[in-house]
Amino acid sequence: VLLVEDETSLLSSLSYYLRSNGFRVTTALDGRAGLRAAQEEHPDIVVLDLMLPKMDGLEVCRRVRAESEVPIIILTARSEEMDRVVGLELGADDYLTKPFSVRELTARIRALLRRSTQRQRTEDTERILIDDLQLDPRGRTVQRRGREITMKPKEFDLLCFLARNTDQVFTRQQLLERVWGYEFYGSGRTVDVHIRWLREKIEDDPSQPRHLLTMRGVGYKFVQRGRNPR
Ligand code: CA
Repeated sequence: VLLVEDETSLLSSLSYYLRSNGFRVTTALDGRAGLRAAQEEHPDIVVLDLMLPKMDGLEVCRRVRAESEVPIIILTARSEEMDRVVGLELGADDYLTKPFSVRELTARIRALLRRSTQRQRTEDTERILIDDLQLDPRGRTVQRRGREITMKPKEFDLLCFLARNTDQVFTRQQLLERVWGYEFYGSGRTVDVHIRWLREKIEDDPSQPRHLLTMRGVGYKFVQRGRNPR
């Protein structure tokens, strides 16, 4: 884990906790050192504060992403909502708002590491099994608890995309680009409507979703609940 954070007390408590949980930790105290460490040490994951001396976290995020697919978690203050959105659009995978618990950070790190190894293994045509859902990208069909669900093409594409990237937050703009394509002139409303339709099809209670979650002020993510799909 590469930790880039200029608050030394936070940095040392995070690295202590992560090391005692079996992670190898490298630290950097400013943006430029963080970028260099990301390039030279090839970490499996980067935890990146946004407010940093020498080079701000957004710039570090942009430059790291230009060269590598390494998962990035950004750390933001509550007042930096805009930066959070920009960070995700620059390619960060997840974010935590300060103050956060180290246990929460560890859980997010594990989830992203699991996902990045899964992604390396999974082919685009492989069936996706998540909890009570079974997605078949080749036949473009979805089954829930063994029963087929009818979906419009974009509902299917959106569900597949989110299901392949579980636990990762996406802004509406990112979803428009990745699912509808850059040439599509839609608004975030298009995404909201499709999410609502999907919730009606895959959630037990669409008003209390357990899988397709809204991240307020940011976007959406798909959460895997159980470890053993039926
Ligand atoms: Ca800072």
